[in-house]
Amino acid sequence: MFNGFKSSLIKLSGIYIHIPFCSKACHYCDFHFSTSKNNIKPMISAIIKELNNRKKEVNEPIQTIYFGGGTPSTLAPLFINNILQTILTKFTISNNVEITLEANPEDLSEKNLKSFYNMGINRLSIGVQALNDEVLKWMNRNHSSYQAITSIKLANEIGFKNISADFIYGTPEKVKRKWKEELKHLIALPIQHVSAYHLTIEPKTFFGKQLKKGFLKPLTQESSNSEYTELVEALNEKNIIQYEVSNFALDGFQSNHNMSYWQQKTYLGIGPSAHSYSGTKRRWNKPNNTFYIKSINNNEVYFESEKLSSLDNFNELIMVGLRTKKGFNYQQALSFLNKKQKQTFNNQLDLLNSDLMIERTGNYICMNEDKLILAEYATRELFILNK
Ligand code: SF4
Repeated sequence: MFNGFKSSLIKLSGIYIHIPFCSKACHYCDFHFSTSKNNIKPMISAIIKELNNRKKEVNEPIQTIYFGGGTPSTLAPLFINNILQTILTKFTISNNVEITLEANPEDLSEKNLKSFYNMGINRLSIGVQALNDEVLKWMNRNHSSYQAITSIKLANEIGFKNISADFIYGTPEKVKRKWKEELKHLIALPIQHVSAYHLTIEPKTFFGKQLKKGFLKPLTQESSNSEYTELVEALNEKNIIQYEVSNFALDGFQSNHNMSYWQQKTYLGIGPSAHSYSGTKRRWNKPNNTFYIKSINNNEVYFESEKLSSLDNFNELIMVGLRTKKGFNYQQALSFLNKKQKQTFNNQLDLLNSDLMIERTGNYICMNEDKLILAEYATRELFILNK
């Protein structure tokens, strides 16, 4: 039977729905998804059942709804609408709720875009990744740069005024990327937000295996830093300003959903592999489609959970806070520590400060502007381990 979160009412900020289907496996991806579409209907029913089962965990208006994956847009809009209507009718919804759909360009026909728009999706996060067909092919993406450009323009014409483009930098030298040209095309698009991630090569992916066999040579740190700097400068030109290591937005278009993760607000994660956070507990659904559907239908346990210690909360606050321009709340960080830990923490802060790595503004401590890319290093220096 269900346990863990069942009895506790949590202050909720958002709902994340994981749609675990994709048309094709990208060579770099290690998210949970299946390219087999056999289980779509039972999966949608199971997701709706999980939403119904867990609505009693929520006593706050929902501020953000996020369809991620996988590729939510690979499903017929009707399925997304079924899930969305369940949320809109069964939960209390904030007036200015942000509803995001992750989408791939090849799915964004005029008909589909109109359906998504009419059902109430008000933010699109489009997987552009590159604006160079050779690079897209190398990544095993299922679309061309032309499709990416036209889908964004069409979405804008249909009425979407909050569009984010996902972009990947740091691809190996051998791909011969024309980076400046791609950036020129990117900033010409009617977008309000960009999420830009360095290509990471995970061991279980196609690229991971290529790397192991010696067929792939990662880009040098120097070249990838220079791509990152050029990206930041190009986006600045369009007033798309960095607000987190990997995220950039026009003023007022920062992703509320992502901000809630970084501000440690609570959220409900629905669907296989989705994570939930209640402030004191974290739980995650097991990443297996068949198991998820079967367990939900039989009222069996389909997730694991852990209670968070004060130090877990402290480390998480530092990790997510330092990635943002605003930084983390110093007093909040101290509230998780005992006397000895506070001393260690303050000593480490002094060291980072003397290296001009961090700065303090009021009650917040953040990375110095030109050091944001080193947030991971600073985080490691400040972490306090459970002993
Ligand atoms: S479309 Fe997205 S989730 Fe699916 S394989 Fe590619 S990167 Fe992964």
